[in-house]
Amino acid sequence: MAEEIGKSSSGVHNVFRLVKVPDQRLTMAIVDRLTLRVRDWGVGISQETGIEKALRKIGRLWFLAKQEEDELVAQGEPPRMSDATRRLLFALSPECSMSHPTRQLPQPHDIVALEDPAAGKTPAHRTGLRPEAPNPWHLIHLCRGCQARRGTGELTEAELRAARFALDRRPGAARHYAAYHDQVLLGAEEAIDMNVLGRVQVIIMADPELAAAPPYALNHGEILVDRAHGLLDWGDHPCEDEH
Ligand SMILES: [Zn+2]
Repeated sequence: MAEEIGKSSSGVHNVFRLVKVPDQRLTMAIVDRLTLRVRDWGVGISQETGIEKALRKIGRLWFLAKQEEDELVAQGEPPRMSDATRRLLFALSPECSMSHPTRQLPQPHDIVALEDPAAGKTPAHRTGLRPEAPNPWHLIHLCRGCQARRGTGELTEAELRAARFALDRRPGAARHYAAYHDQVLLGAEEAIDMNVLGRVQVIIMADPELAAAPPYALNHGEILVDRAHGLLDWGDHPCEDEH
């Protein structure tokens, strides 16, 4: 299939694998090839109705699916994140990250994604950012009340971003980032995002107590972490673990 439409096999594979509406042109290219083989699509389209009609109909279905997905995203569908990222966000802010002027009853709450101001400007395929592993600075812990206030525009994205950055200055934040840093190095994320780790290291280095720690080895000596200098060294380092 990938060869026939001149696309990568992983790209075609992902169209069927990922739980998201795939790229429109790629979808239609696949449908175009499939119309030659599939007799009956089961949505009122068959080889008898003709390829042109089939393409138009599938094109409309794609558009409806995309609309539905966009609405879900706008409603704040929980972003996918690793357990390590979730733990970091809850540690930084065990309650809703927006300070409440009045004491409210406890409300359901969860971590939601912030709008990325750069997202519209730089296409995702250029930044290489992985939507499966969101940047921890694009996430915030909000109660339902604040999620609703965000929906009505009472809370702006700028206010939410400011609240998210303020979490990094709370007492103990650097310690939570240090724990996250090591979990990422130990494989908690699908991939190590050096942009994220670099930023985490800056926060750790700014904490005099954490930065004073001597270099230590992780993963039985595979990685040497030098917090004072924000350095990572992959290699065969002496490991002091008993096992
Ligand atoms: Zn709240």
